[in-house]
Amino acid sequence: MLKNPTPQLIALLSALWVTLAVLALDAGALFGFQWATPAWFFVVQVILVFMCAFIVFFYYLRKYIYRKIKLIYKTIHQQKLRPEEKSSSVDMQTDIIDDVEREVAIWADNQAKEIQNLRNWQEYRRRFLGDISHELKTPIFNIQGYLETLLDGGLYDPTINATYLERAVKNVERLNTIVEDLEVISRLESGELILEMQNFDIRTLADEVFEELDMKAAERNIKLGFKTGADQHFKVRADRESIRQVMINLVNNSIKYGNEGGSTKVGFYDMDRNILVEIADNGIGIPPEQISHVFERFYRVDKSRSRERGGSGLGLSIVKHIIEAHHQTINVRSTLQLGSTFGFTLAKA
Ligand code: ADP
Repeated sequence: MLKNPTPQLIALLSALWVTLAVLALDAGALFGFQWATPAWFFVVQVILVFMCAFIVFFYYLRKYIYRKIKLIYKTIHQQKLRPEEKSSSVDMQTDIIDDVEREVAIWADNQAKEIQNLRNWQEYRRRFLGDISHELKTPIFNIQGYLETLLDGGLYDPTINATYLERAVKNVERLNTIVEDLEVISRLESGELILEMQNFDIRTLADEVFEELDMKAAERNIKLGFKTGADQHFKVRADRESIRQVMINLVNNSIKYGNEGGSTKVGFYDMDRNILVEIADNGIGIPPEQISHVFERFYRVDKSRSRERGGSGLGLSIVKHIIEAHHQTINVRSTLQLGSTFGFTLAKA
């Protein structure tokens, strides 16, 4: 009936209805009692006017409040109310305002959280883009330098031509590593990684990783092996390919940051429901104040050493993502000049 009532319109209509009721009663009295109105009539009139006023006010107010509240609900739920929600809103007579207040407070809270999330994302993206361009700049700049020097006559200088070409290739390889790792990390961070959980022997996987990194270790004369007494075959349940990536990154780091002629030792420890896998080296170690940062992307303790060894600065953040996707934990212990031990847990099969 009233499509968009205003409080004034409601008050006007209510007043009109009540006035009409009083008029009707008075007209009845005028004709019924011919000026000799008995006292009980006033009592009845008061009661009737009160009831009439109550019904009219209540009817219009409820209609008005419901209409407004429906709008609020629609806004906060961003959809039309379902019939059952409508009727329950109409039936809520006494505490409807309280309910709406509560819902609006929850909604406002959620909105605030969402806005904070979006802000964090924006900040994250801004930093990520900054980091990436910074990371890509160095190898591109190097490649440009080597190629330009070669073009400016260096190509015919036997003392530098082969070396500069080799260095340019090395920088292209670095670019490649960064881009590949970026692909992995963006897949991990966008939640695209779907874990294919399976049961497998972690010791066999470690053997495969050793085999893959054998040459690299040999170049630095580093021995890859197992900790004595901690080299059992354990069946774990995880995504084999991702855990392979984790082990490769950790063993690879132990070679990169290990001392020439040192050793990398892998150990497995039974921890009730989980298996703890540890990869320990006796290399350069990490300063205590920097330990908590090594899992951040592009964080490097020793930038030149990392770059020289072809690191993208993303290896450990990839490792952390994968382990967290498995709902497991990773930690690191390290002492400068003595070495580092990275340990992560996996669920037993
Ligand atoms: P990078 O590509 O630089 O190796 P990572 O994310 O794998 O990137 O590692 C981050 C940093 O943590 C490295 O730059 C290095 O400074 C430090 N780090 C990682 N593993 C070791 C290790 N086994 N011993 C000493 N330092 C390490």
